[in-house]
Amino acid sequence: MDELLKVVGLKKYFPIYGGILSRPKAYVRALDGVSFSIRRGETFGLVGESGCGKTTTGRVILRLIEPTSGEAFFEGRNLFSLNRSDMRKVRREIQMVFQDPFGSLNPRMTLGEIISEPLEIFGEGNRTQRREAVRELLRVVGLQPTDIDRFPHELSGGQRQRVGIARALVLRPKLVICDEPVSALDVSIQSQILNLLGELQQRFGLTYMFIAHGLNVIKHVSNRVGVMYLGKLVETAPVDELFAEPRHPYTEALLSAIPIPDPRKRLNRIVLEGDVPSPVKPPSGCRFHTRCPFARQLCKESEPEMVEIGPDRAVACHFPL
Ligand code: SF4
Repeated sequence: MDELLKVVGLKKYFPIYGGILSRPKAYVRALDGVSFSIRRGETFGLVGESGCGKTTTGRVILRLIEPTSGEAFFEGRNLFSLNRSDMRKVRREIQMVFQDPFGSLNPRMTLGEIISEPLEIFGEGNRTQRREAVRELLRVVGLQPTDIDRFPHELSGGQRQRVGIARALVLRPKLVICDEPVSALDVSIQSQILNLLGELQQRFGLTYMFIAHGLNVIKHVSNRVGVMYLGKLVETAPVDELFAEPRHPYTEALLSAIPIPDPRKRLNRIVLEGDVPSPVKPPSGCRFHTRCPFARQLCKESEPEMVEIGPDRAVACHFPL
């Protein structure tokens, strides 16, 4: 499989302004040198606790917010060096499905208007053709073509997320960034939406970057996984290997958070204590050392680099498991 997206050394620092002159007095280091690649046709899961930078990664790739530094190559073109008009063209090919389907849909627009808006912006088809395309897409995402004149408030949460997915797909993108697309939904609805995303991937040959805060959802949708902690990637691996043999203590801790029915298997669990430290002043050395049960002196003094430990596997830890 060839690379569709390659991200290199991505940084995003948000300034915190203060003082009389309103100069930046500190920076929130939301992303601090993140590198990974996504292959055509696969689902790359990005996982970590709130505030680890995973959502910022998606938004920076789409240039909904501008990066501080780094590069992101989509089909070989550096997205960050494109002018507005070229970036606009690329945006057709990279779309996003948002976490909150209600907040991301304009309540005053009908489903037909919401889903056809991107077609209108890019000047595709006439009104009749656009409505026909919307009817077809409503059917594809499991809604009724007759829903075209309904409003978002008339729908359930799961149905609204189906509309969000239809809107993301209407321009036939190559890459879809799914930003926690099921975390706002009831558990009973989550698997329906995950199944739908899987079917659409097959049908349209899509590539997904799938962002989630827990590994249980990631397990069901991903081919490969990147684990993020405090603005950095700490482990990347094919999903089966990550679950069978996590090498970073933070990955192990995330796995330990997944409920398991067998009490004997709970014995070796790592319970994460405390909150994620502030990204304004991350801990010295390994950023995870303040919560890592295996931390030693070296971990406080020296930051571990991401090191390849096998085919398709890398970990940033001085003492991998
Ligand atoms: Fe834990 Fe040290 Fe590895 Fe960091 S480098 S994860 S503190 S063992």
